[in-house]
Amino acid sequence: MPHEDIATWSRVPGKRGSLEPLRGSKYRLVDAHLHVVNFVQETPGGDALIHYMDQANVDKAVVFGLPVSKMWTEYDREPPDYYLANDSPCYYYGYTDVIVAEMYRKLPAEQQARLYPTIAGVNPVDRFALRHVERLYEQYPDVWAGIGELLLRHDDLTAFTYGENPRANHQALWPIYQFAADHDLPVLLHQNVTSVTKSDHPVFLHELEEALREFPRTRFVFAHCGMSRRVNVPFYHQMVERLLEAYPQLCVDYSWIIYDVAIAPNGTPDPAWLELTEKYSERICLGSDLVTKFERLGPELQRYDIFLDELSETARANVCYRTAERIYGGNKGKVGRVTPRSVPDWGAMG
Ligand SMILES: [Zn+2]
Repeated sequence: MPHEDIATWSRVPGKRGSLEPLRGSKYRLVDAHLHVVNFVQETPGGDALIHYMDQANVDKAVVFGLPVSKMWTEYDREPPDYYLANDSPCYYYGYTDVIVAEMYRKLPAEQQARLYPTIAGVNPVDRFALRHVERLYEQYPDVWAGIGELLLRHDDLTAFTYGENPRANHQALWPIYQFAADHDLPVLLHQNVTSVTKSDHPVFLHELEEALREFPRTRFVFAHCGMSRRVNVPFYHQMVERLLEAYPQLCVDYSWIIYDVAIAPNGTPDPAWLELTEKYSERICLGSDLVTKFERLGPELQRYDIFLDELSETARANVCYRTAERIYGGNKGKVGRVTPRSVPDWGAMG
């Protein structure tokens, strides 16, 4: 998830591609990870979104809100605008999905077709969580293209959100995973692979793997491959490769800091990540992970060009748009149409 005011990418003359005009990627792209609502639940709106998508050469975008809202406490003199802005807590805010749906519904049909909104406003430690998803599907059946980004293990954000720590293997999420499997919908998860204090091995990865094992028919998307600020482990690409190999339904997005930290440190693509991307391009998509600030779409996405240039044409097309289309495309209206898979009556079969 999302970054603060400071961009993850900055112009450094010595860095390849750094002095190019920042108009966006030269390749046709689907931004598969874009928050259209910020941490205090504001949105610049759909017209601004479409305007900056056009400027940045972004064909389509997977868009969602933020399931938590940062509180302006009585004791803070200035209102916060980001979850790290001060020490005040965050709380779950399901209305974020209504903001997204209403933003979407105000757009003309040809612009709606460029957006894949997903349901994010889930409290992941509440066993009633599925009810929120069902209500949203009932209220806006033709809007949603899936579920996420659910914010689970998330370092500082987890600490700022009081109550039980959310995690990928929490029982409250199981009905949502089952619902996604029944309706063939993707679930985008933010789950750090480890804690900021444990960088020698991925202490939280088993939680994700438990969910992947328990729900082999659910299409999970692992946001930024589980990396977060100050969260890193050795052999990262081997870990991602093992996950992709072990769980055929799993997809990942390359977004936020994983690109600068692991995939192309200092603007030089890592050969191991290029190889991994070639091999699994059908299950990898690209995103900005911007939190509103749509004017930054150009610079955020253009930085990927140096990496994309080195991929084969097929892998590049997959990563740029085909994978995202396969995951999120064609899902709108699905829940009304698809009958859940029937469960055999095991008792009667005895
Ligand atoms: Zn995010």
